[in-house]
Amino acid sequence: MRKFLPSLIITLLTCLWIASNGQAAEQELTLEERNLERLHLYQKIEALTNIPWYYIAAVDTYERGVRRALRDRPREEGFISIFYSPNQWAGPLNPNLDDQDPLSISMFGGIGLDGNGDGIADRMNDEDILYTFANHLEQYGFSSEDFRIALWDYYQREQSVTIISGHARLYEKYGHLDLHDHAFPLPLRSNYSYRSTWGDRRGWGGRRIHEGTDIFAGYQVPVRSTAFGIVEIKGWNIYGGWRVGIRDLDNIYHYYAHLSGFEKGIEEGAIVEPGQIIGYVGSSGYGKPGTQGKFPPHLHYGMYRDNGFIEWSFDPFPSLKNWERQGFQKLRSGN
Ligand SMILES: [Zn+2]
Repeated sequence: MRKFLPSLIITLLTCLWIASNGQAAEQELTLEERNLERLHLYQKIEALTNIPWYYIAAVDTYERGVRRALRDRPREEGFISIFYSPNQWAGPLNPNLDDQDPLSISMFGGIGLDGNGDGIADRMNDEDILYTFANHLEQYGFSSEDFRIALWDYYQREQSVTIISGHARLYEKYGHLDLHDHAFPLPLRSNYSYRSTWGDRRGWGGRRIHEGTDIFAGYQVPVRSTAFGIVEIKGWNIYGGWRVGIRDLDNIYHYYAHLSGFEKGIEEGAIVEPGQIIGYVGSSGYGKPGTQGKFPPHLHYGMYRDNGFIEWSFDPFPSLKNWERQGFQKLRSGN
């Protein structure tokens, strides 16, 4: 019996270590459970600062997308993705970059604050991180315009302000964080065909590579939003013709080009849902506004990732295959 004791202790210690390790705990939870934890944290900070939870959620979601896109940024330890560098947190002149004392941090010009009342300003603690960001927002006021100015001063990048403001509007409208559903861009029961054409050479308009997937279908087949998002751009572009750009909560920009027309109500700033009709398949583009018929009708679908500094396109083909498969599963199960 005695020789089992050490291994029993090791097992117990391992269990304790896993339980106390935020990252391990996070990985065991479903997305919905993690979102519930996050919502709870945002609302706690709203109660402390009066900053609406959806502002805080919008910043955190934006920073989660940035973390996923930037390879050199460490994974978050808890539920919250807002990132502060040791310099930012402890203060640029602080000799101790791991400083957790709110008083000396503020003396050295750091921004780290104690949000959970334990007397420590911990750069890795969810509540301390959120409270620190909410405190920044609080100094500007509580309106959506104040929010934009606070974001501009913090990120110094118009695109970041636009993306985060969009996230906030989505969360405010729906009142929860579970907005991850996707849809295939064409109705699954319509006639269409596509293959992976990523990176193919394009002849028209100089040397370009193909940044997207072409889905061939007849004129006037409806084009649907693939995600929850905000219409960022709508109008004419010399290459894309009549096109729509939609920004989702992963900071991804979905680009729908060569449309024959737009659905009513699709305007810049509009909120859209997966499966919602945004326009119709056409062959517009490659000339002055209204040019069409220079190629067979198809939807050009592109995806662009934002990493907080720049944007670049990536191959949408695997996502399309996924959404198509999930869509057919839903059709078969009847919901
Ligand atoms: Zn194309």
